Amino acid sequence: MLSGYAVQVEQSRGRRFPESRHAYRNDFQRDRDRVVHSRAFRRLEDKTQVFTRRYSDHFRNRLTHTIEVAQITRTVAGALGLNVDLAETLALVHDIGHPPFGHAGEKALDTAMRAHGLFFDHNLHALRIIEDFEQRYAAFRGLNLTFEVREGIIKHSRDYDIVQYPELAEYLLDQRPPLEAQIIDLTDEIGYNTADLDDGYEAHLLTLEQIRAGVPVFEGFFGEVERVYPDVADRLKFNETNKRVLNRLADDLISNTRTRLKQSRTESLADVRTHGSRLAAFSAEVDAERQQIKDFLYDNLYYSPALADEKDDAERIVSDLFAFWMKNPSALPHAYREKAGQESLPRVICDYIAGMTDHYIVDQYEKYCGREGH
Ligand code: MG
Repeated sequence: MLSGYAVQVEQSRGRRFPESRHAYRNDFQRDRDRVVHSRAFRRLEDKTQVFTRRYSDHFRNRLTHTIEVAQITRTVAGALGLNVDLAETLALVHDIGHPPFGHAGEKALDTAMRAHGLFFDHNLHALRIIEDFEQRYAAFRGLNLTFEVREGIIKHSRDYDIVQYPELAEYLLDQRPPLEAQIIDLTDEIGYNTADLDDGYEAHLLTLEQIRAGVPVFEGFFGEVERVYPDVADRLKFNETNKRVLNRLADDLISNTRTRLKQSRTESLADVRTHGSRLAAFSAEVDAERQQIKDFLYDNLYYSPALADEKDDAERIVSDLFAFWMKNPSALPHAYREKAGQESLPRVICDYIAGMTDHYIVDQYEKYCGREGH
């Protein structure tokens, strides 16, 4: 069933701490389940995707976004003959390192760290979570995930240079990640581009006319939908159109990746790893459409004046709390005060803040820095 270029679970490089085999789940299925049972995964429920304040109970948060990406990933991985268990695990874990308040929180945390000559990277943070912060098992710290999952966490969205990141040397930084990891960044984009159009429309921050005028691929399908369903409500026309956009992106990712595998005569996982570039990709035509959706969302949603206040609040809460604990490390919880003995104080504070949910960080802000929005 698996293609020659898929990752075979029997060929896994294994776990840091060897464990006996499970009776009816393979190692990637167990990794998927360990992610689902982790605290960091549950906290995704209260982390912003795009909308910090809840305009509506219908909007995505990081957990429901993650579940949607996992769905798209299973479809794409299955169609390409890849290891669906591994790909699904990587989709479920892909946002686990994100701090509260979405992109604004991430930026503020990175800015605070850079003042101390450090930085924040959510992939590296995800690795720290699954290697160290999660404590569920008596025999080891972390989740003891297989090499392929840890490698995918680090390499799914970007390459890391061995000179700059010697601590990541074990992750074969001179090689491409398996296709199961390569598709995650692309299925993530398919997921959030279409979902953010949906939430933006639902929030009345984007109008149908605006989307039709600004997103050519949407407009193309909208004409088709109007011909088939001329009398239905606009909301349903939107849904039918957005569904077609999602399908077009996923179909193209599958067919174009297949073409690239064939043209490059890729037959094995070793071929994937040693190829000069990543083989999972949209075609040039659909990639341009994808970029148009993204540009439209940046211009009309992510930086819209309607979201500016909550973005400012998010940045202020993160940077004020960071500064507060730098000045008052004794106010940190006991476990973090202890860690500050082994690691730099900014790193410990960063780890603490990055793990917080939106609600928890607001509570902390009110406790230590006065009421939100004062
Ligand atoms: Mg994501």
